[in-house]
Amino acid sequence: MSDNLFTLMIIPSRKSGVKKISVPRVLVRNLFIAFVLVIFVTLYIIYDYASIKRDRAELARLRAQTKEQSQQFRDLAMKIDGFADRMEKLRQFDKKIRILSADQTSRDKKLPLGIGGSDNEARMKDLLDQDQQKLITGMRKGIAKLNEDANDREKSFNELLNFLHEQKSILAATPSIWPVKGWVTSEFGVRESPFRTGVEFHKGLDISTRFGKEVVAPADGLVIVSAYDQQDGNFIKIDHGRGLATGFAHLSRMAVKQGMRVKKGDIVGYVGDTGRSTGSHLHYSVFVNNVPVNPRKYLKNIFG
Ligand SMILES: [Zn+2]
Repeated sequence: MSDNLFTLMIIPSRKSGVKKISVPRVLVRNLFIAFVLVIFVTLYIIYDYASIKRDRAELARLRAQTKEQSQQFRDLAMKIDGFADRMEKLRQFDKKIRILSADQTSRDKKLPLGIGGSDNEARMKDLLDQDQQKLITGMRKGIAKLNEDANDREKSFNELLNFLHEQKSILAATPSIWPVKGWVTSEFGVRESPFRTGVEFHKGLDISTRFGKEVVAPADGLVIVSAYDQQDGNFIKIDHGRGLATGFAHLSRMAVKQGMRVKKGDIVGYVGDTGRSTGSHLHYSVFVNNVPVNPRKYLKNIFG
């Protein structure tokens, strides 16, 4: 018997003899290999089918997710757009405040009032028509622009705040109220001398009132003179900054000393007739860079 043959013996139940079938060894080996291959291929198909089913479920989930995300992107884009509108309104508001405070800078002139405010509906539709990538790029740009605008606004409001603070202090340091209530008996300018010494230049305003009446600072400032003088008698001078100063002569008494800071309305002295004077009155003077000017320019028409 050859080594290349397998012998199969079939033994039936009845005693009819044993049958022998000889099969080549190669055939058996090939059949075995084919069987193993079939098993592997079947397993692979089963596995592949399962993963396709799994992938299909995943795909459906991803599609739903993408749809939802897409909606969220659009919502976000619309919110950014709405934010840009509010930012624009804020800019207009800033502009109005600046006009009110009469502080128009060259930067603002480049941005005329009433610009922007394009058709909202059309813009929304435009937004919805864009694909996601464009939408994201647009959103990035939008956010960067908003950030820039917010910085601009912050800077502008700080400028306004400083400007208003400055205005407030300028206003407080500008003489505007009468230092004392009374009758003006002599105006600023050329006049006959009350001492009959001819014509003279009167460098202030004479306000006549009762002896001892309170004299108040017409603005915030620093007392730079508080002394007695042959001519002016008890004399006080207040420096208000920016070249402005006020003087109060012939006081009966002085209430402040040199170097003291005073606020508008603070009592600085009392009406008198010290120095070269013809009766109880206040000689009030206003100086611009040490040159006497007409105090009327710095007085409200009514007694303040
Ligand atoms: Zn006078």
